[in-house]
Order: sequence, then structure tokens, then C-alpha cells
Amino acid sequence: VSSVTAALAAQRPAWEALLRIPSVSGPGGDPGEVAASARAIAEFLRAAGAEHVEVLEPPGGLPAVVAQAAGPPGAPAVLLYGHHDVVLPGPPEAWTSPPFEPTVRGIRLYGRGTADCKWSIAVMAALVAAHGGRPPVTLRLLVEGEEEVGSASLPWILGERPELAGSDVFVILDGANPRTGTPGLATSFRGRLTCVVDVRVLRGPVHSGAGGVVPDALAVLVRLLASLHDEDGAVAVPGLLRGRPAGEDPGDLGAVLADAGALPGVRVTGRGTVAERRGLGPAISVLGMDVPAIEDSTHVLHPAARARLEVRLAPEQPLADAQTAVEGHLRRQAAFGAHVIVGFDSRAVAGFRGDPRGVHLSALAAALTAEFGRGAVLSAEGGSVPAAGMLAAHGPVLVPGLAEPEAREHGVDESISLADLDALTRGLARYLDGLASPAGS
Ligand SMILES: [Zn+2]
Repeated sequence: VSSVTAALAAQRPAWEALLRIPSVSGPGGDPGEVAASARAIAEFLRAAGAEHVEVLEPPGGLPAVVAQAAGPPGAPAVLLYGHHDVVLPGPPEAWTSPPFEPTVRGIRLYGRGTADCKWSIAVMAALVAAHGGRPPVTLRLLVEGEEEVGSASLPWILGERPELAGSDVFVILDGANPRTGTPGLATSFRGRLTCVVDVRVLRGPVHSGAGGVVPDALAVLVRLLASLHDEDGAVAVPGLLRGRPAGEDPGDLGAVLADAGALPGVRVTGRGTVAERRGLGPAISVLGMDVPAIEDSTHVLHPAARARLEVRLAPEQPLADAQTAVEGHLRRQAAFGAHVIVGFDSRAVAGFRGDPRGVHLSALAAALTAEFGRGAVLSAEGGSVPAAGMLAAHGPVLVPGLAEPEAREHGVDESISLADLDALTRGLARYLDGLASPAGS
């Protein structure tokens, strides 16, 4: 276990070189940089002692890296999953240090991709190198390049390399800790749908002197969006499920608001604990609207208006049922006979619900507790990780992480705690040792 600390330290300069590559997968990113990132990761894993290192190029997708480090014959196989794509950093001048120049301040390392999710690659390499490429269990490594854009190529990757899904345990290195210094394990992720709702009331623009008789599409759209939540701000769409807590941390509502940077007097939405509202319940957010800009607006009733909605789903909600529920609600609630067209994005993400009492989860929780010196906290996560839902069909899925609220994933000044990176890697090494030689054997 202590040798992983040395391996992490030795690999640090090479790992920081990976953080300098702006591997943005979404709009505004350069696919050439994602490809360069994949090549650099392949080299990095090879240098750590991994075998069968390959860059896979999914048709129409972005490159992923797969590799292996074989354990003794008959040893269990563990898939370690991570991703090397990142989201745009936003204006570089908003950052304290440049987003693609990894910089240490205190115990934290700052830079885009530190918390989400290039630490996963550091962990993989350290676990391989610590055992000279011969770990106590077989490690299969998968670093994909499309997590931030919905993991559309992941089914293709799993089809090309069937041994990946044939592993005994799946460890997704893309979770979160509740606080710096406290280990967390995600027991669920929500599903996610996005759709564009298009409201039409007129054949074309009309003089606003007709207002009072003739409806305008903007007002109808705003009223329709208001119908998605009740007076407490809880989702009011019939048919969207709410999960029941099963031992997850209930969370602290005030801390969540504070971490989000809520302004004085701003209150929480919904009902129940943080786990019930954010982890296990549905949420609907308005991501964008096509509306006239105020400075261009004039005395006209608008014929049509559109909004893009994001719907986060209870972990166990089937995607098709959720689509039907959302579309049905939007059509039923349209005022004044407005025509409503709902178009769903094809990149929906299924939710994931693990077993909070599973033996692997308990073993990893114990290992993390030992290495952090603080009890591991089980959490129902509000985000969506496509790989979790896909891999859960093949075996137990474990989701340790590093991205605490302080990490500001997707935000400005993203960072990780280097102390926690070390403790997490040691915890995983301890868990893998236990898996290789279960107590009593
Ligand atoms: Zn992300």
C-alpha cells in the first residue's frame, strides 16, 4: 500500500503533462487535442508498466485508451474506468492560475481536469506501477474521451473489447467526496434527459395592440415552464419517480446552498433531505431559451418561443417512461390551445442505483476509512455518469471519488486535494489486496 505513494510521486511530472493538454470534448474543443491526450495517456500507462495499451478510435467519436496489468492466474479482474476529456475552462482571466497550467497552492493542485477527471489516470498508473506491472488482481483500464458529451461511444468500446465488461468488479473513478479529507462512495447517479420545448401560437408576428385577445408565445412558454414545479419548487410532473433513501448520507441543505454561492436570502427548492431532493428525486432546469433580446424587442406578439430543458431522473426511473411523462405534461399544460412540440436529445443517460449493503462496497468503504482515517460516507449523487448505468448490467459498480464541493468541477479554479489523491489511491490498493486474498482464505 505504501508503494503507491512513491509511485504517485514519481509519476507526478508526467501526469501534470497530461493536465496541460486541453482535451475538451464538447463544442468549442479541438478533437486534435483529445487525440493528443489519448496518445499521451497511452505512453503514460505504458511507462507505468501496463500491457496491451491501445488507443481505440470509435467511429464518429473521440479516442479512448485501454490497457491491462495481469494479476496471478485465477485472480479476479477489476475494471478501472476514468475519462480524459474535460469541459471548456471559460475565460482564462477568471482563473487564479492558467487552467491548463497545473499549479499547487497549499495541499491542492489547480487546473482544468484535475478533479474531473484526470486524477483517475494517475490512480490507474500508480496502482499498476506500485506492483511493477504485476498487481495482485488483474486490472483492466479504460479511459474514455467522451464522458462530458454523454459517452456515446462507450457501447462500441465495450463491444470491441468484450473482456472489459467481463470483469468481476467495476470501479468508476469519477465520484465525489463530501469534504476534503472525508472519503465518499456514490451509491447512485440520476438519469438525465434533455429536450427542446417549442411553443407556437401564431402564423407570424402580430402588433401587440392585439394583446388581451391574442396570446403571445413567450408568455405561454413562461407559464408552461412554471407548471413544471409546485409552490415548494418540487417537480410537479406526474409519472416522474422519487427514490427512497437506503442508508445514504442525508446531507446538509444549508451547506449545499452555501457551496453553490447562493445570494443572501435565497432559499432551497423541493422537500426532504439533500439525498431525497438532489440524489433520489427528479429535477428540471431551464438550460436556455430562444427569445428576442430586450434591446431588439419591439411592440410585437411573438408567434413562437423555445426553451431547452434538462430533466434529472430518480436513479431507477426508466428513460422511456420519463420521456412519456415529461412530454405528456408539457402537452397537457399548454395554455390557450398553444401547439407544443417536444424534441428529446438522443443522448439520454440512464440512472444507476448500486447496493449500499453490497460486499464490495463494504470492503472498499472499510479500506478508504482506514487510509483517510475518517469514515467513508455513502452518497446519492445528483449528477449522471453514463458508464455507471451501462456497467451495472455486468456486475458490482463502485464509485469512489475526489471531487468535493471545494473542487469546483466544471467551474473556475478547479482543483483536487493531493493528500486525498494519495489516500484514495492507498485505499484502492488496500481494497485490491483484500480482493486478492479474502480474509479467512
Ligand atoms: Zn464532468
